[in-house]
Amino acid sequence: MINAKDYFDIGIKFHGHKCPAMPLGLRAGAAAMNALGVERSQDKELVMVVETGNDHAAGCFVDGLMTVTGCTYGKSNIKKTYVGKMAFTLIDTKQQKAVRVQLKPEFFGKMLQSPFVQQRKQGVPPQDILANITDPLVEGVMNRAEEEFLAISPVFDYHFEKTKGTFDTDLCAACGERVFVHKLQNVDSKKICIPCAEKEK
Ligand SMILES: [Zn+2]
Ligand SMILES: [Zn+2]
Repeated sequence: MINAKDYFDIGIKFHGHKCPAMPLGLRAGAAAMNALGVERSQDKELVMVVETGNDHAAGCFVDGLMTVTGCTYGKSNIKKTYVGKMAFTLIDTKQQKAVRVQLKPEFFGKMLQSPFVQQRKQGVPPQDILANITDPLVEGVMNRAEEEFLAISPVFDYHFEKTKGTFDTDLCAACGERVFVHKLQNVDSKKICIPCAEKEK
């Protein structure tokens, strides 16, 4: 069993400030892992598809998800679909099973009415919001029963095909920088990098 609380301190350190959305990601990620019966992803055993965007409140959610699941942008086993929902699918690539978790709509609606979010709307940076506003919210997220705020789908079959990353590089014929070969462009029978190819257009 994964306990979100074990990842709280590293989550705060990685994320950079204390807010309710990062802990929501810890809790939701842990719930998905427990539903699938999986451990934290050491390599790319787990893959995550997150439905948030990059231009709305509570995007911090994804930092909590990355912290607890080990699905990270560096390993490229996470991607966002930018549809603007507080939901994600966690895929167990070994068992070819997945689960979708979303924040319950009513719960998330209420959270957006919190004094923390009111201050954020007025432009106060999260790290400057007083602890007597932030702390009770964060405590609430870390201790609330899952069924109060998470809608967890039944585990379902998910066909996931692994692709192999390239280890091969070459030099761009224009700028001389080293590039992974699958990103080199063929322009006038020269192999050049994407930025150089754009310049030639
Ligand atoms: Zn945050
Ligand atoms: Zn180049």
